[in-house]
Amino acid sequence: MFYYPFEYDEPLFRPPSEAYSLILQVTLGCSWNRCAFCEMYTTKSFRVRSSEEVLQEIEKAASFNPNVRKVFLADGNAMVLSTHRLMEILQKLKTVFPQLNRISAYAMPRDLEHKSEEELKSLREAGLKLIYVGIESGDPELLKLVNKGEIPDMMPHHLNKAKRAGIQSSVMIIIGLGGKKYSRQHAINSARVVNEINPDFLSTLVLSFPFGQEHYEKRFKGLYEPMSPQDLLEEQHLFIQNTDLQNSIYRSDHASNYKPLKGILNRDKSRLLKELETAIQKPSEAGLRKEWQRGL
Ligand code: SF4
Repeated sequence: MFYYPFEYDEPLFRPPSEAYSLILQVTLGCSWNRCAFCEMYTTKSFRVRSSEEVLQEIEKAASFNPNVRKVFLADGNAMVLSTHRLMEILQKLKTVFPQLNRISAYAMPRDLEHKSEEELKSLREAGLKLIYVGIESGDPELLKLVNKGEIPDMMPHHLNKAKRAGIQSSVMIIIGLGGKKYSRQHAINSARVVNEINPDFLSTLVLSFPFGQEHYEKRFKGLYEPMSPQDLLEEQHLFIQNTDLQNSIYRSDHASNYKPLKGILNRDKSRLLKELETAIQKPSEAGLRKEWQRGL
């Protein structure tokens, strides 16, 4: 990990796989900031940083470490920027970091709506290789309930446009998002949407309550029924069972997961399902994280 002489606007988030990247805040906060399960940027008001601020920061980083190979554009959804602004940033990065190999960013599916395939191709050619997208669920009812502001059927449309432009995607689903009541439809519809995208990377994490479960339940309009660790493992099993993917790298290794899993879907589907079945039936033999075993 390299520490840059910046004053980051906290809190600062990045995907685990960007631990060794230069994190560049091109926007602050999230332009939506209304999802019921997310507290990441609730202390910040969304703002686009000025061109001047960002370009100066890039130069500062280059004078400190010109050997940067990976850059992650923060905060919550840098892809909300216009193609023109993004191109300016990508081109500057390319100029000052000769060894730059990958630029990535968080994106909401609808950030891609107003970018044409041609524009996305230009961004790819300028170095944008990967977008991280929180699909969260493919169930329309649940997404509405948690106020995600996205229509599941539109997600594949937007993400497949990025794919045709050569931009890889890493998508994320939240296990337990709808509680017991919505568990089945959440698992099946999430798999359906993910199948239509066939992302390069797929991950699942488990719903957590940074401000307490009660706080979440309130925002959920009283319809949230808590799930046991076993319920959550069963939901993850049903989700994987319903996926039909070609060479998607799957991970459930985020600290929130009960059972860390790694594999390629569909190739490793039966092994992953078997591991989950063991975790459900014989938790003591399944290598579950200790803190979770107590809950089973
Ligand atoms: S769009 Fe993403 S960052 Fe913004 S509130 Fe929703 S989950 Fe959080």
